[in-house]
Amino acid sequence: MAINRREFLSASAATLLAASTRSLVADDGIAAKPWYSTMQRCGHLNLNERDPLTLDAESWMDYFASLKTDTVLHNGGGIMAFYPTDVPFHHRSEFLGSRDLLGELMSASRKRGIRVVARMDANYAYEDALQAHPEWFERNADGSPRRHTECPWLYKTCMFSSYFTEQMPAIYREIGERYDPECFYTNGWPGTQALEVCHCENCQKIYREQTGGVPPPGTDPHSPIYRKYYDVSMDRIATVWRLWEDTARQKNPRSGYVGNLGGGIRTVKSVKRLSDLTDWFYADYQGRSGNAPIWLCAQQGRIARCAAPGRPAANAIGGYDTGNPGWRHTSKTREETTLWMAQATASGMAPCYHWLGGRPEDTRWRETGRSFFQWLAGNKDHFRNRNTIANLAVLYPQSTISFYGAGGATARKLNGEAIDPAEFLDGLYESLLAGRFVFDFVHQEDLDAERLNRYAALLISNAAYLRDSECKAIRAYVAAGGSLLATFETSRYNEWGEAREDFGLKDVFGVSAKGDVIGPEGNGYMRIEQPHPILEGYEGTAILPGPEFRVPVSGTGSGPLPLSVVPAYPAFPPEMVFPRTPRTNEPAGIFLERGSSRVVYFPGDIDRTFCRSGHPDFSRLLINSVRWLLNGRPLPVSVEGEGMLELFAWETEPGFALHILNYTNPRMNRPYVSRYYPVGPQRVQFQIPQGRRIMAVRALREGRALPFQQSEGVVRFEVPSVADYEVVALT
Ligand SMILES: [Zn+2]
Repeated sequence: MAINRREFLSASAATLLAASTRSLVADDGIAAKPWYSTMQRCGHLNLNERDPLTLDAESWMDYFASLKTDTVLHNGGGIMAFYPTDVPFHHRSEFLGSRDLLGELMSASRKRGIRVVARMDANYAYEDALQAHPEWFERNADGSPRRHTECPWLYKTCMFSSYFTEQMPAIYREIGERYDPECFYTNGWPGTQALEVCHCENCQKIYREQTGGVPPPGTDPHSPIYRKYYDVSMDRIATVWRLWEDTARQKNPRSGYVGNLGGGIRTVKSVKRLSDLTDWFYADYQGRSGNAPIWLCAQQGRIARCAAPGRPAANAIGGYDTGNPGWRHTSKTREETTLWMAQATASGMAPCYHWLGGRPEDTRWRETGRSFFQWLAGNKDHFRNRNTIANLAVLYPQSTISFYGAGGATARKLNGEAIDPAEFLDGLYESLLAGRFVFDFVHQEDLDAERLNRYAALLISNAAYLRDSECKAIRAYVAAGGSLLATFETSRYNEWGEAREDFGLKDVFGVSAKGDVIGPEGNGYMRIEQPHPILEGYEGTAILPGPEFRVPVSGTGSGPLPLSVVPAYPAFPPEMVFPRTPRTNEPAGIFLERGSSRVVYFPGDIDRTFCRSGHPDFSRLLINSVRWLLNGRPLPVSVEGEGMLELFAWETEPGFALHILNYTNPRMNRPYVSRYYPVGPQRVQFQIPQGRRIMAVRALREGRALPFQQSEGVVRFEVPSVADYEVVALT
């Protein structure tokens, strides 16, 4: 997904109040629990225009009932009505005839006890609407309306227009009156991707009056006009969101509205600010494509939890092929789709199983969803989570992800090289999986002491763009005994990318930046100068591969230099390959101890270089660093055995649950997984609170009890084998 965004300086008081009242305590008793608090299994058949000719609502709902879905999405309207609408310019399906397909699907769902979300689309409308309401539509710089690239008879609507504040509410009111859905949801809006520049009259007026300029050709966070526009746009999204929510509640006060917040870790719009608007988090991360690792759905779950803490989350999951190229009417492999659904449930999201079109000629996806959902339903209590069990926090660097890199910021380049700002976090993430740590994401805008103090360490992967207040919160956390890992340009700029004179956290790192970033460089190294626990496991070498980029720093804190920079030298031709400066006193790693706090700072982008190179010397450095930061504290969960796994540990309503995802696969880093490679016995030590007694340990995928021992707050057991996914319930 696209990138490019930034933050606003402060949420309004109204937003903060709304956010606090939205927090759902999982165990707040039965009184007035909103319907979405128990949502666990969702389904969606996305209708197309021809479906009214042939669709059998009853047999489709038999299918979704066989999945034991508790909630389904049905196409309501917006771009296309599947019911006999009376709202002008609300385009009815050409093939609707005398049918009320939405009504049929609604009643077929309700008689099976399944709740319904009306799925809307506000993004496009037809030529007749353009003729009657030219002001509803986005415009190019030459004034022409923006057409859909594949379906040029559709025109893009502008969110600053009355299409969003009058036409869509009219449609919501009509659907609310006739069908009373539990909730409304909009496909593709607002999304977390980059903002677009619209040149319609409304937008020109907004630029003139609110940002003090004219619409720029593109988005550039270094431009003051863009920054203002970003805030104005985020405010408009909030206004529209609230209006739609209020409209939804006119008929039924328990109804509501949720927007589309998908996109994984690559966000431009502030996922935190958007999440403050929502009762529950609906992500739209349906599958992977290209050179993407398998764990992106689990990352999405972590984003949902850090952006909307304490609130339910769901993720749409494509049964169809989501690759690039992709095929909307072909099934993904059973193994890939199952592992994606497993990541949703492991990370605390309800899977929403999704197919397009009512006449599938490929039906392989049907059993894939059914078998996973039926298993999920059979074990549903163990997916009622209270809290994660994790002692590590990974900072989600929203400002940097939004504005630092090539995807959203126009041309944030480091010495000519376009940078994907998520690759820093990607490198740390893979290292944390390899190290088998359990961890949570915490959002950059949510760093108060209450949030941070439950963690032994905070891990920061190049959060180059940080507010002063965020630096202050990190400093306070370290001063209170928390430990810290940070890399590369962390804290070197404010949230908009304006450079500070030095690191905002220079006192914490114990070093100062003494120049511009150096790189990209291959064939540079790091020299092991002194023995240190972080430098263990490198027997047989005095040097390690060096990062592609580094900030030159001076000062070594106190104590000897453990790891130094060996500057790059020619890699070709072989006759020239020898170090020109084999030894320097420039630090490549800073390892500090202050009381109970430990700090590790790497001036190089070792996380990103690991992401790009795959060289395990980098991930070892990160894993060793995290272990050293923990300073002998036990891991909440330790899992020993072969394989590349991702772990989640939860306190659940019945007890505890350990989720083990097995990524050990030749297709781990590229679609598609088409068979599993089971990993053998995994020896587990699970810490539980003093005084809690575990009576049973059960492997839910395997469907059998596991022998276990319990002593001094630790439960020990062995998971004999994991094919795709195992959930071990401790009760
Ligand atoms: Zn516009």
